[in-house]
Amino acid sequence: MDIVKSPSELQKIVERIRPTKRIGFVPTMGALHKGHISLIESARRETEFVIVSIFVNPLQFGPSEDFDEYPRPYEKDIEIAEGLGVDILFSPDVKDIYPIKQTVFVSLPELENLLCGAKREGHFRGVLTVVAKLFNITKPHFAYFGQKDYQQALIIKRMVEELNFDIAIKVLPTVREEDGLAVSSRNLYLSDEERKRACVLYSALKKAEDLILNQRGVSEAIDSAKRMIEKNGLSVEYFAICDPETLRPIDRFQDRALIAVAAKMDATRLIDNILVNYEL
Ligand code: AMP
Repeated sequence: MDIVKSPSELQKIVERIRPTKRIGFVPTMGALHKGHISLIESARRETEFVIVSIFVNPLQFGPSEDFDEYPRPYEKDIEIAEGLGVDILFSPDVKDIYPIKQTVFVSLPELENLLCGAKREGHFRGVLTVVAKLFNITKPHFAYFGQKDYQQALIIKRMVEELNFDIAIKVLPTVREEDGLAVSSRNLYLSDEERKRACVLYSALKKAEDLILNQRGVSEAIDSAKRMIEKNGLSVEYFAICDPETLRPIDRFQDRALIAVAAKMDATRLIDNILVNYEL
């Protein structure tokens, strides 16, 4: 496995590779876990040349968020990527990605200020901008994302479609711990005891799904799920039942829904979601 830090060096390498091999790209912020591994394994199965990036992108963190504290177990990540047969680990420094002040941004106002974007101003603009840059640097045929970050996957798909990126976006199911907790790098912030209580997020999503599938009202389902979560000591940022394409709240369940939650366990912000009768 080669480790590359320079965008222009990587662009030269992929230029040589592209004519004969399909390139699969998995963008991450590192602290690699089972969720990332499932994306990398799919890329390995489906393409001949796998690039994984590790870049904690300052543009998508708010001033009071955890950019500095975000876990960076770099040596362990290298070992994991190597073990999975990754061809190139792209791990640029901030100055490699932003050598000058970034003044051009990609934005999707219709979707970026809902759900997670409502409290994280500028977050999705930061995500879209860095992903566009990473796509231009790695020039993949396929790029892999997790349903765990549903809103992110949705807006990236829209960006690719509307800006004519010649890339197929693959969205893979959320990998969970045995008790249902979605695997996340931020779970590392939780104590053992908090970690146990955190699985209520998934139970609450399933409970809400059960209620709406049984013809109970959407607001009843939301209230019931919120109560479950709060009983376990988390504070709910949002619990939403919405349309999976527009992300607008639905009043009544008809045929499809996204059920999504963000909640804080002490200072740790956790997100999760499930889809009902819909696939991205
Ligand atoms: P991150 O390093 O958190 O930016 O995540 C990198 C990619 O891994 C994103 O596409 C995430 O949606 C995906 N991912 C994170 N956690 C999971 C999980 N538990 N299951 C599946 N994909 C995940």
